[in-house]
Amino acid sequence: MEYEPVIGLEIHVQLSTKSKMFCGCAADYQSAEPNTHVCPVCMALPGTLPVVNRQAVEDAMMIGLALNCQVASATKFDRKNYPYPDLMKGYQISQFDSPICITGWLDLQDENGEPVRVRINRVHMEEDVARLIHIAGPDGGPGHTLMDVNRAGTPLMEVVSEPDIRSAAQAEQYIETVQSIIRYLGVGTANMEEGSFRCDANVSVRPRGESKLGSKVEVKNMNRVKAVTRAIDYEVARQIKVIRDGGRIVQETRGWDDGQGATVPQRSKEEAHDYRYFPEPDIPPLKITSDMVQQVRSKLPELPAAKKARFQYQYGLSEYDSALLTSSRAMSDYFEAVGAAASGTSLDDRRAFAKETSNWLTGEMSRLLNEAQQDISSVRVKPAQMASLVETFRRRDLNNATAKAVFQEMYRTGQDPEVIIDAKGLTKVADTNSLGLVVEQVVSANKVAVADYVAGKETALRFLMGQVMKASRGQADPEITMRLLRERLEVLKASR
Ligand code: ADP
Ligand code: ZN
Ligand code: MG
Repeated sequence: MEYEPVIGLEIHVQLSTKSKMFCGCAADYQSAEPNTHVCPVCMALPGTLPVVNRQAVEDAMMIGLALNCQVASATKFDRKNYPYPDLMKGYQISQFDSPICITGWLDLQDENGEPVRVRINRVHMEEDVARLIHIAGPDGGPGHTLMDVNRAGTPLMEVVSEPDIRSAAQAEQYIETVQSIIRYLGVGTANMEEGSFRCDANVSVRPRGESKLGSKVEVKNMNRVKAVTRAIDYEVARQIKVIRDGGRIVQETRGWDDGQGATVPQRSKEEAHDYRYFPEPDIPPLKITSDMVQQVRSKLPELPAAKKARFQYQYGLSEYDSALLTSSRAMSDYFEAVGAAASGTSLDDRRAFAKETSNWLTGEMSRLLNEAQQDISSVRVKPAQMASLVETFRRRDLNNATAKAVFQEMYRTGQDPEVIIDAKGLTKVADTNSLGLVVEQVVSANKVAVADYVAGKETALRFLMGQVMKASRGQADPEITMRLLRERLEVLKASR
């Protein structure tokens, strides 16, 4: 029998708001001295009252709208009770049965390029818990745990998908798409390694063709996208084996052990699964008017999928190039800023220019950014300078290798390409007059090779070509050189 994986993802997104979810403490917990961003409200001391962070509510609505959800006209908060060291209050303020956003969807592509729609069950608001840092003991002896409550009470959004994902690759695409949307919206950094974006995977299998869902296992503790895909693949294989061996899958929570490359049973705080939810008595339900929704909707930026489609039709770029260019908002903005600085007027001109710009940005620029672990938003090269380099290159005033060298210098120094070209004497080697002179010199200085060519030895052309490149210090345009050289030699051959 063949088995089909069924996957639903629960994603936690940290917001980049200034203050925490229900108090005025600064929400930035990474850079602060531990246990300094704390007040009676986020400690839930008796007599204090939480106040909802307006920005966080707007951000939640924005995330929901970007995921094609409906925003509820009324929403409330609930207490989720459980004892755990990272939750000194003994409860977390969350949303249980009336989340702020419901029933959305996200479109992906399966492995064959066919569309897959993953439905979104809900987006809800809650507060994060304290951060625990476990320190191992010496020689395997007992260790200890440090606690930082700066993170306790910071806004956390949970995005819950329906079980519509069918493979690890689709899960990866779903995660990366949600990350990209969060970053486009500018509401969070969506970084798994930093913990500002966390993902739990619910995994089950069922006989292919079966419509009933199998028992699911919830996998936690994955802090890289790669870990999520490995955990899903492992878990799917494990479950299929259990069933084939005559066993049954019991619903449980497992943890991903990256070193072992396996999911392991977890004795967890949620073993009991009785959170005794009840409505948060200290926060009145929120009413959300259609005006408020409209206002947030009007602030939505063009999202990655729409931008990608627009790049394809507006600039005639391939789907692949468009996807690369729109993978971050900063990169797509940079690309369009380069285009705005270009002088081309006809549609064909602008498209050819866009294609060339795309080559530079997805090629050399991305390579150098990667190498330097840098983001395009902090790059020294101004879009206008990039435009100027691309135009020079398109006029063939520079050959490939020289243009790359110029770009690398621009990247390092932020200088104009013209300044670098002048300083290094790199100008105009593609111009046929000066190249013609070099060809002439090479032809008269290499009589033997010329005679070989005239006698029919094609390989001599390669040698002569190399001589021209050398004489021009590598700056000659190879195509034009080849044409000039061949023309010159053919004349000699004909006049023999
Ligand atoms: P729970 O009550 O255990 O939290 P939910 O119904 O709230 O379960 O679903 C939590 C997540 O698990 C959702 O992302 C959902 O899509 C996913 N899920 C539910 N049932 C299954 C299943 N049988 N297989 C895989 N994922 C599932
Ligand atoms: Zn506080
Ligand atoms: Mg749930």
